[in-house]
Amino acid sequence: MKNWKDAAVFKGKERGFDFSPDLSLLSPVPFSENAQYCIFPGFCDVHVHFREPGLSYKETIRTGTLAAARGGYTAVCTMPNLDPFPDTPEHLSVQTEIIARDAAVRVFPYGTITRGEAGKELSDMEALAPLVCAFSDDGKGVQDTEMMRAAMKKAASLGRIIAAHCEDDSLLRGGYIHDGEYARAHGHAGISPESEWRQIERDIALVRETGCAYHVCHISTKESVQLIRDAKAEGLDITCETGPHYLLLDDSMLEEDGRFKMNPPIRSAGDREALIEGLRDGTVDMIATDHAPHSAQEKAKGLKGSANGIVGLECAFPVLYTGLAETGVISLERLVELMAYAPRKRFGLPLDGDFCVWELGCRDRVDSGSFLSMGKATPFDGMEVHARCAAAVCGGKLVYQA
Ligand SMILES: [Zn+2]
Repeated sequence: MKNWKDAAVFKGKERGFDFSPDLSLLSPVPFSENAQYCIFPGFCDVHVHFREPGLSYKETIRTGTLAAARGGYTAVCTMPNLDPFPDTPEHLSVQTEIIARDAAVRVFPYGTITRGEAGKELSDMEALAPLVCAFSDDGKGVQDTEMMRAAMKKAASLGRIIAAHCEDDSLLRGGYIHDGEYARAHGHAGISPESEWRQIERDIALVRETGCAYHVCHISTKESVQLIRDAKAEGLDITCETGPHYLLLDDSMLEEDGRFKMNPPIRSAGDREALIEGLRDGTVDMIATDHAPHSAQEKAKGLKGSANGIVGLECAFPVLYTGLAETGVISLERLVELMAYAPRKRFGLPLDGDFCVWELGCRDRVDSGSFLSMGKATPFDGMEVHARCAAAVCGGKLVYQA
């Protein structure tokens, strides 16, 4: 038995976190002899859908948090497109009671920006503010500029973040995958990049006016990267996330399969390169999976008919390590910053006693059949990866071991 205490422990102090994992918690965990281990702060995903309450045939807080732990995540922020929508403290309490009972890792719920995410009137933002990590209408863009202006003013007065799913419905024109070469060659209706960046552009103007702390969800286009880069240079309080699939895939890799369908869609090679450049120069602040499970039936209708959304928690670090860090596109330190420190710093979330242990340099394959998540659809299924989670500890408790 190799002494796992020799494992490399990732440093965090210079990033403002006192990351000193209690390795005695790993004592009962068997580690294999010739493997190379690395210990990281527990990952933090600010964009997951756990579907409960309301859609627990897709995922539950129990299965979602078990999947998180298996992916090395010890903290997640749950998007509010639920039933009931967490738009009042009373509605939110339905979710927080399940979290208190079933969650295996830390779960921080979002509250909605508008009631029922209908875009017509603001949620009970004032009463929700102390109970939620931020506000979002994820799944939809807030179409009405006046509504977004009011939301940003309110959020600014409450000292809370607006995390925006940016999508201008008037520019969608029936599209469901990226409006690019693949869509044209295979007769699919495309979603223009403009539908995303136009709304980011609108919101940046509103941030300038209101002083709201603003976070853009799942950016996918090169124009979005440039708009956010410029806004940051101007000194506006703006951050953004992108997902593993936008960083590692482009539309030339699409297949006629629902596991390649999500919104925003997998974009062009040029967009992917711009996002990677954004990771390098700090424009893109963090990586979030947009873990969005659906039933097998809902994902079995090809690119056109399948529901939007893929799962991500259990393969994010393996695919990113293999595709970006091992290849030297970004450093391992930068990857851990994007997945653990930066999201916590922006959303003010704790790291007390949270860490994960990874075997690096091994040969493994993404196998969605083995996922603890109820959702199995991922475009990375079958991909060869060189990292495997050995254990995860959350708040001083062992929550996953291989
Ligand atoms: Zn979204």
